[in-house]
Amino acid sequence: PVDVNKEAAISEGLLDKQDKFQRRMDIEFNLRKAIDQQEFRLVYQPVVDIVTKRIVGLESLIRWHSAVLGHVSPSDFIPIAEESGLIHQIGEWVLRESCRQNMAWQEAGLPKMFVAVNLSRRQFMDRGLYAMIKSILVETGLQPQYLELEITESMSMGVKLVADTLSQLKMLGIRVAMDDFGTGYSSLSYLKDFPIDKLKIDQSFIKGLKIKQVNAAIVNMVITMARNLNLLVVAEGVETEEELQVLQECGCRFVQGYYFSPPVQAKQIEDILHQEICVI
Ligand code: C2E
Ligand code: MG
Ligand code: MG
Ligand code: MG
Repeated sequence: PVDVNKEAAISEGLLDKQDKFQRRMDIEFNLRKAIDQQEFRLVYQPVVDIVTKRIVGLESLIRWHSAVLGHVSPSDFIPIAEESGLIHQIGEWVLRESCRQNMAWQEAGLPKMFVAVNLSRRQFMDRGLYAMIKSILVETGLQPQYLELEITESMSMGVKLVADTLSQLKMLGIRVAMDDFGTGYSSLSYLKDFPIDKLKIDQSFIKGLKIKQVNAAIVNMVITMARNLNLLVVAEGVETEEELQVLQECGCRFVQGYYFSPPVQAKQIEDILHQEICVI
């Protein structure tokens, strides 16, 4: 006897797989033209110092509006860009545009801030990464201390290559942040392997953060450890007053999240800074 439900489930599953495959192909195909067709934009999210109540930096985050597919989230297309190798071109564009924009803000007389750029592990497989970043700094005129690179813990392969490249970049004066800290397989060993300046505590530990909770204990531990290792700490994904309060009690100095500002267009950053608003 044929189990109709089971059969339906299987064929649904297959369809699902087919859909996913098709979606993937669509994304990859359209990604190839996206740079030339100027379909990428960068948005910027403020990093706030809760002691001085000032914006100290901005994380640049890519946005893609495809003429064919509409809006596609970076969580969907960045992995495909990585696998297809397109991340090299896209990553170079992100770096150049982030540095150019930060320099433009400085030239407009806005307070100097760092711009933090997300890097994929695959970008380190390009031996020319160091030279490329160096030449973008020269080309845009941005001083290296105003560029920060965010790497994630998934950079386990090619540890030596990544670490060597980061050391070279750090010698220029660029800072390195470990993104999504705490979510990787061996977070602690990365601290040993990579020359890191800053930890960004992953938003999953911040969500619903309350005192006397396992997340608060973890955040406390990370902050204490970071202090002992002379690392800066940023809490990501701060959305509520309560989360902010707990972070303050834990001695966390830098925060980022919807509570202060979502990522916004460059023009809006100018407005925020011109108003010299106290964001808290
Ligand atoms: P990420 O680097 O950890 O960036 C933080 C993500 O959290 C961003 O999502 C940001 O919009 C979101 N976020 C910020 N504040 C809050 C908050 O308070 N609550 C919540 N729920 N979310 C918040 P986005 O922009 O969708 O980016 C997702 C990921 O895609 C990034 O995670 C990063 O890994 C990757 N990505 C984005 N832009 C680039 C890029 O230019 N290059 C590379 N290689 N990866 C990128
Ligand atoms: Mg990031
Ligand atoms: Mg993150
Ligand atoms: Mg992330």
